[in-house]
Amino acid sequence: MTVNLEGSARTRALGRRIADLLRPGDFVGLVGELGAGKTLLSRSICEALGVPRERIASPTFAIVHPYDGGRIPIHHADLYRVEDYDELYATGFLDLVSEGSALIVEWIDRIPEAAPAEWLRIELEHVSPQARSARITGFGPRGEELARALAPS
Ligand code: ADP
Ligand code: MG
Repeated sequence: MTVNLEGSARTRALGRRIADLLRPGDFVGLVGELGAGKTLLSRSICEALGVPRERIASPTFAIVHPYDGGRIPIHHADLYRVEDYDELYATGFLDLVSEGSALIVEWIDRIPEAAPAEWLRIELEHVSPQARSARITGFGPRGEELARALAPS
């Protein structure tokens, strides 16, 4: 399924819809070139979960960030600078899902082995300076359920 995101307000709205559906242990992997809107979508999900805005905005160079204070525990990871699976393993990232956190992961295509059996994949594409598109795919029962719930009715 592909959704048109004309203007960043549409990306924020998609983030709100995802946030409403998310449960502890859910995994959302984001794919897309620089500027495709991965970080905006990640932040929009966290904001809609109720994570305080100042926490989301604070810059950090860590691979994995905990975002406390929202409706469910959530971590955000950016794999852009991660070399390989071993480096990611060392961060403890892979334990977070079983510990009951939801995860939003930018650049999941850099370390595809990091994706679990059930997950939601969102591929963002730069359509024009003012527009993006999102191709939404679900893997495993939970991923498919999330993808179906995001389909425009
Ligand atoms: P990435 O993390 O994929 O590199 P960002 O989330 O930082 O991309 O977004 C890059 C720029 O694109 C930001 O200025 C953001 O506001 C803008 N942007 C994101 N989504 C959209 C959209 N749907 N329409 C127009 N601009 C967007
Ligand atoms: Mg980014």
